[in-house]
Amino acid sequence: MFHVPSFVYVIGLISLLNGVILVLLTRATNNALRGIQAWAGGSFLVGVGFVFASFREVLPETLSIILPYLTAALGLTLYYRAVRQLLGQPEKDLRLWAGNLLAALALAYTTLLAPDFELRTLLLSGWLGALALVIGLNLSHGGPHRHDYVRFLSGVGFFVLGFLLFLRAAFYLTPFGAAQRDFNATGFFQDAALSGVLIVSTLLTFSYALMHIERLTSTLGWQAHMDGLTHIPNRRSIVERLDLEILKCGTDSTPLSILMIDSDHFKDINDTYGHPAGDRTLQALAACMQAHLRGSGTVGRYGGEEFLAILPGVSLAGAIQVAGRLRAGLKECLLAEVEESLVVTVSTGAAELLAGETDGAGLILRADDALYAAKQAGRDCVRPEREMKGG
Ligand code: GH3
Ligand code: MG
Ligand code: MG
Repeated sequence: MFHVPSFVYVIGLISLLNGVILVLLTRATNNALRGIQAWAGGSFLVGVGFVFASFREVLPETLSIILPYLTAALGLTLYYRAVRQLLGQPEKDLRLWAGNLLAALALAYTTLLAPDFELRTLLLSGWLGALALVIGLNLSHGGPHRHDYVRFLSGVGFFVLGFLLFLRAAFYLTPFGAAQRDFNATGFFQDAALSGVLIVSTLLTFSYALMHIERLTSTLGWQAHMDGLTHIPNRRSIVERLDLEILKCGTDSTPLSILMIDSDHFKDINDTYGHPAGDRTLQALAACMQAHLRGSGTVGRYGGEEFLAILPGVSLAGAIQVAGRLRAGLKECLLAEVEESLVVTVSTGAAELLAGETDGAGLILRADDALYAAKQAGRDCVRPEREMKGG
């Protein structure tokens, strides 16, 4: 149906334009997007290949067959590199280069030495399909962020591309394909394959930008809610969580308590062992608390060496027990985590939500008071809020 050389030319032009868009994006983002230069390079190479292939009627075979196949293989190799860079994985592309070399030899042999259209299509389209599948596998599996939907869908895009290329590799071996060997032969298969390549290559350019946006969004979301040093919820996040839990308690009137936990004489740890050792101690403290409270509550970093634990469904008496166990558990856990000579203890204040309280402000003040009382009592101990002490 469609005029094949024009169709191929348009695909090449669009691929080149995609490369230009990516270069502009590289400049607009101060080169902060990992792998985008390799992705732009891939689009340029694929684009150049398609443009040259569209002049099959007028250009020698070296330029209209060999060059397009080579640029397609190199372009896919660059896409692979871009994907590895995006995922922060090493670019182990030695095997791909070995494959590319073999493909180049096969290409020269089946075009110049012993021209064989079927064998060339089988080997080269097969190799390009394999490259697309490798990229698809990396995209759909790789990376620490499990919920990157765009990345997963881009992986699917490369699988589709690989499938189309395998189909092309096998197609000309069938009697139906043999009748359409002529480059200009129009037909449903040509149109469908070229449409597929056009759609997939354009979508992949946008998806690369989207993958970065997706990754940035999830990183920013993480940074907004988590503490960078200890990797537990930060102050804003834990206070928000407390207010949420209080709302829930209001509806089903279950008890709720909190613990304000502060490391004793932490300044001395910094002064004696140095600030980095202090940082490691804080990380160990957070990890131990999180492990100990898993299932019964949530802990966040409230300030420097001060932590806030939320215990939903727990009364003040229960919270004091939890804090006592935590105090003992931390000693054991920290002994394994930090230097043996370094003794870390914590003081804890406990407070329970009062009937009618709708946010955590008063609760935090009472727990802070109780923490102060624990410090006054000589540290390394747990104290309840004053109401309980009085009663
Ligand atoms: P107290 O038993 O009364 O709580 O004594 P303290 O020394 O723990 O309390 P103080 O408030 O005097 O000092 C807190 C110390 O915690 C001082 C500060 O340098 C240290 N600190 C706060 N945040 C960090 C951090 O992120 N890393 C390190 N290494 N130290 C921190
Ligand atoms: Mg302290
Ligand atoms: Mg403190």
